[in-house]
Amino acid sequence: MPENLYDVAIIGRGPAGLQAAIHAAGKKAKVIVFGKLRNSSLYKAHIANFCCYEKPILGKKMLEAGRKQAEEFDAVFLEEDIIETKNENNLFSFVTESGEIFTSKALILSMGVSRKKLRVKGEKELTGRGVSYCVDCDANFYKGMDVAVVGNESAAATGAMTLLSYAKNVCLVCQKLVITDKLYDRLKESRVKVMEDTWVKEVIGTNEVEGVLLTNNETLKVNGIFIELGAKGAMELAASLGALFDPEAVSFIVTNKKQETNIPGLYAAGDITGPPWQIAKAVGEGCVAGIEAAEYAKRLADS
Ligand SMILES: Cc1cc2nc3c(=O)[nH]c(=O)nc-3n(C[C@H](O)[C@H](O)[C@H](O)COP(=O)(O)OP(=O)(O)OC[C@H]3O[C@@H](n4cnc5c(N)ncnc54)[C@H](O)[C@@H]3O)c2cc1C
Repeated sequence: MPENLYDVAIIGRGPAGLQAAIHAAGKKAKVIVFGKLRNSSLYKAHIANFCCYEKPILGKKMLEAGRKQAEEFDAVFLEEDIIETKNENNLFSFVTESGEIFTSKALILSMGVSRKKLRVKGEKELTGRGVSYCVDCDANFYKGMDVAVVGNESAAATGAMTLLSYAKNVCLVCQKLVITDKLYDRLKESRVKVMEDTWVKEVIGTNEVEGVLLTNNETLKVNGIFIELGAKGAMELAASLGALFDPEAVSFIVTNKKQETNIPGLYAAGDITGPPWQIAKAVGEGCVAGIEAAEYAKRLADS
């Protein structure tokens, strides 16, 4: 048996992942949950429409309470991003940003949706013409070119390193990197040029990206800019497992009423499966996914 093997792994510790953890661990499955508290959409929200709470409640408090509840059922938490996923021989495996490898029999994707834009001049106008939000989708278009990546977290650091296999020069623009020491060391050993204490003020270009203007007033001449704010995107991780996306709104994972995806043992819950983006929906789907994933893992163990 591989080391670090869990019955159910959950990527995402928002309401969907937390509820899934409570139900899966409640069924005596060995559960691990990955993800960061502050990266949940709920973190900064005040919630007034969630059943049973008469007065508005802070999202952060709900998230902290949910973790404690899941831990009462013996779920394990790791506040780290997942940067790589694989599906081989009936087991899922994933790599954390520190480089640790975990495996599980069932996997629940509850990474929410990324709404993160830079909101600077030129970004909207040049989206699709040099401005990209997905390294894994668009890296290939920048063979032999110069590119910049902007972001402070794991998605930006890993994205910049991925781009080294395609682009001629890769520059990572960040205010302050918030990544693990191991990822930082890998980044520093790579050919990525890291520019800290600055940020992108404007994307320059007429019909396509020609450069970016930084807050330190330097201009970088680049053919493309990758905006990677936050963790490795749900789309990239899910796509690498072969999960089917909604053909109309390509960023949502298709599930059935059991929250099953097209891949056996792979479940999805919460904002990642599409609107309405509400806690009530996230916890409902998380509950179903948690129960179903625990039962799947048990069936696999019994077979
Ligand atoms: C300002 C604001 C106000 C809101 N107000 C309300 C409201 O009043 N009522 C309501 O019902 N809803 C509200 N919402 C929506 C609600 O917050 C979301 O519907 C809900 O949080 C979705 O839960 P989720 O678990 O699917 O995703 P999220 O809560 O977004 O959690 C996603 C999790 O995935 C993790 N993650 C992402 N990528 C990775 C990775 N690569 N590796 C590891 N972990 C990863 C993140 O760290 C995070 O823990 C509001 C949202 C916002 C932004």
